[in-house]
Amino acid sequence: MSVIKSPTGKKLHCKSWQQEGLLRLLLNCLDPDIAKKPKDLIAYGGRGKVARNWECLETIIGTLKNLENDETLLIQSGKPVGVFKTFDFSPRVVMAGALLVPKWATWETFYELEKKGLTSYGQSTAGSWAFIGTQGILQGTWETFLQVALKHFNGCLRKKIVLTSGLGEMGSAQPLAITGLKGIAIIAEVDKNVIKKRLLSNVIDIMVFSVEDAIDIAVEYKERGEPISIGLLGNAADIYEKLFEMGFIPDVVTDQTPAHDRKSYIPSGILPEEASSLRETDPVKYEEMFRNTIIRHVKAMVEFKDKGSVVFEYGNNIREQGKISGIDAFNIIPNFASEYIRPLFFEGRGPFRWVALSGDPEDIYRTDEVLLTLFKNDRKIVDWIDFVEKRFSFHGLPSRVCWLNFYERALFGKIINEMVKSGELKAPVAITRDHMDAASMASPYRETENMKDGSDAIADWPVLNAMLNAGCGATLVGVFQGGGVGIGYSIHSGMTIIADGSKEADFRLERALQADAQLGVIRYADAGYDKAKEIVKSTLFTAKVIS
Ligand code: NAD
Repeated sequence: MSVIKSPTGKKLHCKSWQQEGLLRLLLNCLDPDIAKKPKDLIAYGGRGKVARNWECLETIIGTLKNLENDETLLIQSGKPVGVFKTFDFSPRVVMAGALLVPKWATWETFYELEKKGLTSYGQSTAGSWAFIGTQGILQGTWETFLQVALKHFNGCLRKKIVLTSGLGEMGSAQPLAITGLKGIAIIAEVDKNVIKKRLLSNVIDIMVFSVEDAIDIAVEYKERGEPISIGLLGNAADIYEKLFEMGFIPDVVTDQTPAHDRKSYIPSGILPEEASSLRETDPVKYEEMFRNTIIRHVKAMVEFKDKGSVVFEYGNNIREQGKISGIDAFNIIPNFASEYIRPLFFEGRGPFRWVALSGDPEDIYRTDEVLLTLFKNDRKIVDWIDFVEKRFSFHGLPSRVCWLNFYERALFGKIINEMVKSGELKAPVAITRDHMDAASMASPYRETENMKDGSDAIADWPVLNAMLNAGCGATLVGVFQGGGVGIGYSIHSGMTIIADGSKEADFRLERALQADAQLGVIRYADAGYDKAKEIVKSTLFTAKVIS
């Protein structure tokens, strides 16, 4: 397999920038600098794939290159299945991924169908080709820990020790965010090579091999009031248990191992490189080890909570895995989205991201400058851009994330299109977002847990969201299942629009960015949240709200 990287520069490989932008995003997801296992087409999140197999990937690439400006390519769980004549303004790609009829939506059925080659798991942004590496989640993680700091520690993590685990593609955002907020992070990671990789890319500051060393360093930095991130080699369950037995109680405890998927979470007692063969040779033993480890892992989190740590589940469904295995912590441990992030959704504030298709970092820095001028009075945006510019280097196509509200997204999207048109940016820009957004995610153990009106499991919203985005001319639209928390636990939608500087892109951006975020506000207003109800009445809100 040759190394995959997105093309850069102005030369087109497709019939227009709409297709070209999607092609570049797709290839960028497999860039070895950002993807977890490019040779297996896995971008992140356990086993989140961008295409079903290599043959499908090659066909997708070839089809995108030849796709006309009034055609739409259909992707069914990572496999290209047809091209239809549509309209100039239609999406160029529509997708459905990992969807199963609800009664059949279990990992067991999914694995069987996957083995037969009939489906594939796209997580969230892997399946919708919007994965941009750790930065994609970095601001969400930064926002989460900021809210933790505001709620429990007067707005700052200085002198606070956060224990977490998993230094994967999403998990790596944790040390960056925690130290960015001046805190001390101890991150348990079972794979030595992963820790080394994070050390080399300055994601963590130091690697240690014993719990004792981690405690010594954390305590020393706490006394000094300085931030540090410590990658601690070992299984999270073993480490949490040992720390607790030693009487070490961190201020905050969470976890970002891929607990949502028992084929990715590594049970205690085996090395990561042994896990896949054990799964094949002795699945019963593997399952038993998995359950025992999860029970110990969750139990330790509950015990930390009893002793006063702030504890929350970090989007990986570990409480449900615990419940299935024999320990129910649902009433003890809250989840990050409902506890810390939800109020942002009331104003349609969500993970807006943009990618410089030129490949030139200067294009992103130029958009940063404009963003800072436009939102100079918004302290959080100013602090965020300052933090991310200093602390994060680009990998793959240069890109940026900034959580903007329902009005700001369309405004900034159109400005980016103007910058492309005027030549201020060297090439078009892809505007996209995470699936963890207001209208686009139904996930009863994450974004939609404990909704005010009890609508946790209502999955109409992400489906409406996708149909609306398609109607508004987003360049890519998709509906998926299982992102973040695993098969059976979520339905979500993704969207991307290519800002190529054209008048047509202007329409696409204005319509789709407004609709995408405003539907989110309507979703929360409909659920009875006062702030969202206020916003739908504001003069900036363009959708007509019925009821
Ligand atoms: P990943 O597969 O890229 O990385 C997981 C890491 O955890 C790997 O480095 C692996 O070696 C390590 N690991 C596995 N089992 C372990 C164990 N028992 N102890 C210690 N380390 C262990 O996954 P990712 O993309 O980082 O995502 C992690 C989890 O977070 C997934 O469940 C994902 O669905 C979820 N997620 C959360 C959010 C969010 O917003 N909170 C967003 C995306 C994904």
